[in-house]
Amino acid sequence: MQDLKVLTKQEVEGLDAPKISENFFHSDIQKKVYIESYGCQMNFADSEIVTSILLENGFGTTSSLQDADAILLNTCAIRDNAEQKIRNRLKSFNSLKKNKPELTVGVLGCMAERLKVKLIEEEKIVDLVAGPDSYRDLPRLMGEIESGNKAINVFLSKEETYGNIEPVRLHSNGVTAFVSIMRGCNNMCSFCVVPFTRGRERSRDLYSILQECKNLIQNGFKEVTLLGQNVDSYHWINPETNLVVTFANLLEQVALISPELRVRFSTSHPKDITDEVLVTMSKYENICKNIHLPAQSGNNRILELMNRTYTREWYLDRVDAIRRILGEDCGISHDLIAGFCTETEEEHKDTLSLMDKVKYDFGYMFSYSERPGTPAEKKLTDDIPEEVKKRRLAEIIDLQRKHSGFRNQMQIGKIQKVLVEGNSKKSKDQHFGKNDSGKVVVFDKKNEKVGDYVMVKIINCSTGTLFGELV
Ligand code: SAM
Ligand code: SF4
Repeated sequence: MQDLKVLTKQEVEGLDAPKISENFFHSDIQKKVYIESYGCQMNFADSEIVTSILLENGFGTTSSLQDADAILLNTCAIRDNAEQKIRNRLKSFNSLKKNKPELTVGVLGCMAERLKVKLIEEEKIVDLVAGPDSYRDLPRLMGEIESGNKAINVFLSKEETYGNIEPVRLHSNGVTAFVSIMRGCNNMCSFCVVPFTRGRERSRDLYSILQECKNLIQNGFKEVTLLGQNVDSYHWINPETNLVVTFANLLEQVALISPELRVRFSTSHPKDITDEVLVTMSKYENICKNIHLPAQSGNNRILELMNRTYTREWYLDRVDAIRRILGEDCGISHDLIAGFCTETEEEHKDTLSLMDKVKYDFGYMFSYSERPGTPAEKKLTDDIPEEVKKRRLAEIIDLQRKHSGFRNQMQIGKIQKVLVEGNSKKSKDQHFGKNDSGKVVVFDKKNEKVGDYVMVKIINCSTGTLFGELV
């Protein structure tokens, strides 16, 4: 059982949080940096850490490519097409570099870690390569380039968590923010490059997480999403007391900061999500009832080949536990891969039948892309033809659309608490926000402001959006 020292409300309130962006307007700016982020939420969160490190060291930021002295791409390597996209983007900088030869082009993140020096050899425009654990070294690497060298650091750390760095909220609407709680991954799903590009799993100091969340609420933010590749295996040992802090403990501590602060998290691994986490979620109104639970496949043989370490039955038991403890309205989303090595038509149908059983609210769906160096690339054959992968993926997407529509229909007539995030895409007379289960809700404006909580009656829906009216 847990043996956490539970912080009192006064202790949490007493955490002394610095203000965001204190160094945003640095007086002695050396170079203006333009940062572009690709891939998962973790990368977007990392770019905010990179910005913080650069600003602390006298660099400035710009949102204009033309104004930039340095362009940094924070990259993803999860599928081949993610890497191709980066290579094309790099090509598009050729004319800029021709006009401004002193322009620095850097590649950060998972693609940098995967390809290392090869990236500099293959993409001549690249001056700087920095893996996900080397961002504190960026000012030195930028200095190397000033002296006319190419610069690279792809050292993977067992400790780096960037715990004491206050991210600069680049991608922010001022209401919702990502907070990294851990880095790396110790699972070895056979298809996945992440353990090789992000290194061993390590959990961030509880108190630095609480401090960051407290700081966010002081700056007007209303929602945090706690991020990790596998949040359920969060495990931090307090060096002063030797007491272990689990994810359930952490979740509770964040929820206690303020009832006004909504808490979400991602990603949960089906093998690790415990009833303790679900019960903690049920105890606090401000922990959103929304779980991202990647399945990858609905067939046991494929799950074993993927080294997911759970079965279809185990997965369905976890879904039952979610519905039992958190109720039918809890949002559940998935990741699924179509056409993994040797997958038969029957096995693909097991994935469709898993979807039918769960009726997910939402999902991220991919066709399998073999990644060099992964266990699947070494031991299995990527033998499903591209057109079969595409067709299976289309079937999965079609079914998901149906289920999203079904789940959205279930919300009609209900009154839901929505956190207002901004103007709707289609009309400035409408606001949009999210309900507890993570669904987008659009409604006509009255007097509410961005960042307010409002009650909305759901009156209609599409497969992707709920439409409502303020009550
Ligand atoms: N840590 C999370 C988990 O365990 O589910 C997911 C991390 S990964 C960044 C996001 C998703 O990308 C995975 O859940 C998987 O569906 C997909 N993915 C990873 N490797 C892939 C590959 N080689 N081909 C296709 N999809 C892949
Ligand atoms: Fe990749 Fe599996 Fe780790 Fe997720 S849990 S990051 S899919 S190895």
